[in-house]
Formats: sequence, structure tokens, C-alpha cells
Amino acid sequence: MKIYADNAATTKMSKKAIEAMLPYLEEYYGNPSSLYSIGQEAKEALEKARAIVAKTIHADPKEIYFTSGGSEADNQAIRSAAAIGKKNGKMHIISDAIEHHAVLHTLKKLEEEGFEVTYLPANENGIVRTEDVENAIREDTCLVTIMYANNEIGTIQPIEEIGRICREKKVLFHTDAVQVVGHLPIDVEAQNIDMLSASAHKFHGPKGTGFLYVKKGIRLTNLIEGGAQERGKRAGTENVAGIVAMAAALEEEAAAIPEHTKKLSALRDKLIAGLKEIPHSALNGDAEKRLPSNVNFCFEGIEGESLLLLLDDKGISASSGSACTSGSLDPSHVLLAIGRVHDVAHGSLRLSLGDDATEEEVDYMIDAVKEVVAYLRGFSPIWRDLTEGKREFIL
Ligand SMILES: *Cc1c(COP(=O)(O)O)cnc(C)c1O
Repeated sequence: MKIYADNAATTKMSKKAIEAMLPYLEEYYGNPSSLYSIGQEAKEALEKARAIVAKTIHADPKEIYFTSGGSEADNQAIRSAAAIGKKNGKMHIISDAIEHHAVLHTLKKLEEEGFEVTYLPANENGIVRTEDVENAIREDTCLVTIMYANNEIGTIQPIEEIGRICREKKVLFHTDAVQVVGHLPIDVEAQNIDMLSASAHKFHGPKGTGFLYVKKGIRLTNLIEGGAQERGKRAGTENVAGIVAMAAALEEEAAAIPEHTKKLSALRDKLIAGLKEIPHSALNGDAEKRLPSNVNFCFEGIEGESLLLLLDDKGISASSGSACTSGSLDPSHVLLAIGRVHDVAHGSLRLSLGDDATEEEVDYMIDAVKEVVAYLRGFSPIWRDLTEGKREFIL
């Protein structure tokens, strides 16, 4: 059996997205800034895509800026809020410890440039507390940036309440919603969101395309200077085919949210219940406030890397930590932030289900993980120490 269970890292493009893309590669390949008809066809397609994207998050098309993906959108949102803050003498930013590196590394740079950043903790379930946000806001706070849902442990933050507090205190609120757009309903107006980042390849669109929503009246800072594309805020000839495909993917996914949520939550809970039977294991993240597709576990006494390789042999594509940190030996900053110690954090496994996941696949994954964990523990020196009482079990 072949199972792709790494949909939080990237997703397969949908048939609709591929079909939507082709005419803009083969026929309407003109530059949208040019005046002849094949250019104008491209321009129209771009604006149609903008309208579709805007509608799915209840925004105005003028509030959508196309980017190269989630990372660029995060960078631009944070840099723009920082620039506004600096102009007004406000150089304090609030974020949290479990953000994606696109946010964390941008904030690091801003710290080097003189900004002060408060990193709020996440509780042991991976939730950032609204009261902490409220208490952290100061006179000189220019931005609160809290992700909508975590890419590793799937926890969903109280975005609407955080947004309400930011609005009350007149502080800009950005959310990295890359894991949520196309997967859960979003209403930027009702949820008090000023800026929101999204990426097409996380919802069955192509890689290298995404968007940033920016509420009217907020001044964007360019990351890329050049032509007047994207109302002068993001230079460079638009990735027309990619953007058209993104809109097609999003339209299809957004319409299927209720159906996917129902189906995936049930499969997720079955998978969690199955993996919980493994002794000395623990679910990472909140059991309820959780993306319908996300399962993340720690298994004591094993190494995540070996687990992944053996699962790959069984046809399962999974992940340990995030794709960006795998390959390095540092355990996930997210797992450490929710209180997992290094050794335990090393033995982590993320299975992120796709829309087409089946019960049969879930059964297969439960059996495979049980078997591989038992096998690896069989020759793990740490496991031997644990079972011989030379070390104490943590889980
Ligand atoms: C994937 C991801 C990103 C980065 O998006 P790209 O389009 O790959 O640049 C940012 N934030 C989160 C939460 C993600 O999951």
C-alpha cells in the first residue's frame, strides 16, 4: 500500500487546478501588463482569481496581494507592520514560540534591527492563551502575529478573540493561516484579522504561489521592487498559471470543507486512538482544537528519523518535526515549546491526512507504526535503560 501522509508539508495538485492552469501556459501566455488580447486574457484571469480568493475568506479583491507563497506573505506582512510601527515610534511585536520559521526568522531579523519581540508560550496542549496576548500588549506594540493553526501539531489558536483584543487596543493583527486556508472556514471580517498569509501548495494548488490578505488602509512595504504589479506592492510579472490554478484549487476545497472536516476528524480520531495503544506514547497538541487532518505523536525510546525510514519501506510518507527542520538533528522547536524534553521530542511522528484518506489506510498506518515502534525499541539502548529501570519513563 502507498500512503501519502504528509499533507501538512505539501499536497498533490488537484485535477481541477491542473486543468485550470494549462490554458495559461499554452494559449494565454501573454504578459498581463501588456495591451494585446493574449495579455488581456491573462489579466482578466488574474482578476477573476483574485475575486475567487477574496470571496473564500470574505475579503475585498483589492485586499488580496499575490505572492510566491506562505513564506513571502509572512515576511511582507510582518515587515510592513514593523515599518508602520517604526514610523510611529512603536517597536514592540508580540508573537509566540511555536510559529513557522518564516515568521520566527523574520522576527529575529527585526530584533537585530532594534525591535523588541515578546514570544508568548504555548501551553502543554500547544494553545496560546488570549489573556497572555492581552497582558503583553503595550503602548509601543505595533503588531501581534499568531498563527491560525500549527503546521506540526495541528493546534488551532483562538484567532477571533485575539483579533478582538487587537482591535480594541488598536494593534495590527497578522495570522499565518497557511495550514487553514482551504481547510477550515475563514472570515477575516468576523474574525478581526488585519493580515493573513496563505500558500497554494497546502490546499492542492501549485508550489510557488500564495497570497497575502491586507485589510484596506494598511500600508504595505515592498519586499521586491520593480514594476507596478500588485498595485505597486509586489513587483515581478505575475505567475498567471499558478495563480489561476490556486484559485481553482481553493474554490474546490472551500466548497468541500464541511464534508472533509467531518470525514477527516473521524479518521484522525481513529488514528489517534490506535496509536495511543502503543505503550509510553503521547499525542502532541490539543485533542479537540486541532486540524482535522493532523496526528502527531511522541514515542519514547526511539528516533523519529529511523521511524520515518522504516515507514517509508512500508509505503508510508510521513514526517518528524517539520520538513524544514528535518535533516537537522535539532528536535522540533514546537515540541520543545510544549514541554517535550529533547529525547522524547526526537521520537516524534506527524501523519497529516489527505482529503482522499480512507479507513483502510488508517488501519494500515496503525499496524505499521505499532510494528515499527516495537522493532526499533527492540535494539534501542535508551529503551533498554528505561525497561531495566536505569532511566525513568517520561511518557
Ligand atoms: C508551509 C508553511 C509556510 C510556508 O509556505 P510556503 O508556501 O512553503 O513558503 C508558512 N507557514 C506555515 C504554517 C506553513 O505550514
